[in-house]
Amino acid sequence: MEIKKLLDDSNHYIMNTYSRFPIVLRKGRGMKVWSSDGKEYLDFVGGIAVNILGHCHPKVVIAIQKQAQRLLHASNLYHMEPQIKLAKLLVERSFADKVFFCNSGAEANEAAIKLARKYAKEQMGTNKFEIITAFNSFHGRTLATLTATGQEKFQKGFEPLVPGFRYVPFNDIPAIERSITKDTCAIMLEPIQGEGGVKIPDADYLKSVRELCNKHGLLLILDEVQTGMGRTGKLFAHEHFGITPDIMTLAKGLGGGVPIGAMLTTDKVASAFQPGSHASTFGGNPLVCTAAIATIETLLEDGFIIDQCNRMGEYLKKSLRGLHGEFPGVIVDIRGMGLLIGMELIRDCDPIVKACMERGVIVNCTSGNVLRFTPPLIVQEKDIDHMIDILDEVMGMLL
Ligand SMILES: *Cc1c(COP(=O)(O)O)cnc(C)c1O
Repeated sequence: MEIKKLLDDSNHYIMNTYSRFPIVLRKGRGMKVWSSDGKEYLDFVGGIAVNILGHCHPKVVIAIQKQAQRLLHASNLYHMEPQIKLAKLLVERSFADKVFFCNSGAEANEAAIKLARKYAKEQMGTNKFEIITAFNSFHGRTLATLTATGQEKFQKGFEPLVPGFRYVPFNDIPAIERSITKDTCAIMLEPIQGEGGVKIPDADYLKSVRELCNKHGLLLILDEVQTGMGRTGKLFAHEHFGITPDIMTLAKGLGGGVPIGAMLTTDKVASAFQPGSHASTFGGNPLVCTAAIATIETLLEDGFIIDQCNRMGEYLKKSLRGLHGEFPGVIVDIRGMGLLIGMELIRDCDPIVKACMERGVIVNCTSGNVLRFTPPLIVQEKDIDHMIDILDEVMGMLL
């Protein structure tokens, strides 16, 4: 179909909740995607931290093909091998003892919020339900996760919000101390704020939060939906900070491109959920679990890809610092861990994103003025060199 007709139909039939770029993506392999009119793009967004192995990784594709012929879906009324195997893989590689599967990041966080409330009610005996979250955070778009998200721009128009949330500035321990009350049951944070502009806390912040949780008997919920699955150069970002949470949520990169979310926790906290407490029709479906198993096994083979992520992350930051030398008045900061990297500008970065796209490079802008790079973890130096050349050209033209 002609591109103009596709774009017209898209606008005509699909609800207008995204401001989309006027291209229609049709095919992807590794670092590249192609639009319906055959134009090639180098993808430094990777589905926003989803396509950790690049597009259509053969191991993931073949695993999905095989499973599609075996069993697509049954029901959580029954046990299913892929779900069991995936839960075991995640437990063996994390602090957690138990996993609940769902279909997205918001759902994983929703499950975490419900579990924290139920655990507190049962184990702490009092009316504890309040959860402290950070300003500038992002936890999802359902009513509870939208409320957990400490950004008014996402909440506006959807009031009344869910009761029981309190917000503190990120990376501010005294603010948390002041916000803990007799009603507090948990503190919920991203180890690095992703949508909020790639904000990295001080090295000892999460350790201090963990100590506060221990002291006051609170649960620490870490939202690793964006930072998990090797993105920051370790399997989970909290490993950088020498702590473990009580509850961790995953989604984005977990399935290598298929929709799957997970909430992980300890046996102690998991005991608050019994049959009937929480459920999902599709959660942990054999098709998506098979894709996630193939993704994790490929990611962890010899630790090769996570090493690559660390090396390429350093190379990308170094290359961006080279740009900073050229445009010192415009680039405020370059920061990130692994391949979650932000370059903060003094101005709106949408025109840069648009101009890069016209030149066949896909980058993302978050928080208005932060160029965010979340490429597949298999990105190579030559890809980074090409992207930097284009960015250099575009910035020279626009600034
Ligand atoms: C993307 C994201 C979410 C929401 O995930 P969905 O799958 O879109 O519901 C939640 N938390 C963080 C940190 C995210 O980056």
